[in-house]
Amino acid sequence: MSRLLIIGCGGVASVAIAKCCQNSEVFSEICIASRTKSKCDAVAERWRPTTKTQITTAEIDAMDVAALTKLINDYKPDAVLNVALPYQDLAIMDACLEAGVHYIDTANYEPEDTDDPEWRAIYEKRCKELGFSAYFDYSWQWAYQEKFEKAGLTALLGTGFDPGVTSVFVAYAKKHYFDTIDTIDILDCNGGDHGYKFATNFNPEINLREVSAPGSYMENGKWVEIPAMSIKREYDFPQVGMKDMYLLHHEEIEALGRNFPEVKRIRFFMTFGQSYLDHMRCLEDVGMLSTTPVMHNGVEIVPIQFLKTLLPDPATLGPRTKGKTNIGCIFTGKKDGKEKKLFIYNVCDHEECYKEVGSQAISYTTGVPAMIGAMMVVQGLWKKPGVFTTDEFDPDPYMDALNKWGLPWVVDENPVLVD
Ligand code: NDP
Repeated sequence: MSRLLIIGCGGVASVAIAKCCQNSEVFSEICIASRTKSKCDAVAERWRPTTKTQITTAEIDAMDVAALTKLINDYKPDAVLNVALPYQDLAIMDACLEAGVHYIDTANYEPEDTDDPEWRAIYEKRCKELGFSAYFDYSWQWAYQEKFEKAGLTALLGTGFDPGVTSVFVAYAKKHYFDTIDTIDILDCNGGDHGYKFATNFNPEINLREVSAPGSYMENGKWVEIPAMSIKREYDFPQVGMKDMYLLHHEEIEALGRNFPEVKRIRFFMTFGQSYLDHMRCLEDVGMLSTTPVMHNGVEIVPIQFLKTLLPDPATLGPRTKGKTNIGCIFTGKKDGKEKKLFIYNVCDHEECYKEVGSQAISYTTGVPAMIGAMMVVQGLWKKPGVFTTDEFDPDPYMDALNKWGLPWVVDENPVLVD
């Protein structure tokens, strides 16, 4: 029996909340707190008749550390699940430390204002030293290691699907199938179709910033950076079919590179259709992906935020999306001196997800692991003082929970490799 404070009430949060409500033996009480309280109230009303979980709601600007600390102290949760935006990560970690509760999130920190000179100086130094230029990285949150350790609190970072489940797949492969892992290819395939010419499956600002950034991968412990979308492969995904996929920078590569230094190469690929890429390139060329404010008719606007206003809300894609996702990791390595390969993946059906919780599979595949990560922490199965990613704990209870809570996985010991 535990009490969870959930921050944010968007696409991913809606699924995490639905799953907490299905799991009321563990989550006997939840409080949904977000910037727009009416959204929290609507979600609470939807699930209240179906669950024993006691649901309350609150309005919070998570950037206001004092107000958030007060909310945490008033509600007294066992842990805080941050499913707002990566911009809020550090403020929420600060409030958790202040109030003495565990912290869980699904995406690593990035700043909202990438023109902030203080942030930029540190960022530019990191680009030079480490060799990758994505706006998001783990250094900001890893810097909290000592504070969480001293406070005896756990911060579990990145418990979505990728990162999150993919990193657990790595720990599982290492524990049960390999003596050494040589290569990891993380493949994220969305074979879903929502019928729009252009829409993003989760927060457009975060999604477009991720996708339009240069790609990078890790080889022999070093980053190799390439122009955005310049490495393309085709892969025949089980239950989805042949898709084009592109090498992207992705946050779990950083943590896996640090925690599994034996691995010689770690890459991440995501599938995109031609229409998505054409739209994105055009929007980028005209400056619509910029985060730098511009004056328009006397009003200051941020282009990418204005674009978000124009695009379909990812939360509304559920009823329109058909098809399946296939996300997983392909490994090569050695076991008992012999070469070995392995593919661990999950297939998720957009329409099934919508039937169950009213969301498409992208929110589902992130919201379910968010609930599972919170469950690992509040049940004490994954609890050690400090700041950790999901590959740093025993993968077995998490893998069991994936099967139980809607994301069953498959192990293929003879997969086709990506060249
Ligand atoms: P949405 O934009 O749908 O939802 C974000 C929510 O956060 C909204 O409810 C928003 O409130 C709220 N919010 C924003 N700013 C604040 C603030 N200052 N204080 C309080 N609440 C705030 O995003 P998604 O649900 O698509 O994504 C949620 C998170 O999941 C993101 O961090 C994203 O990066 C991550 N993610 C992780 C994935 C993974 O596999 N690891 C995959 C997909 C997403 P309002 O309604 O007022 O705007």
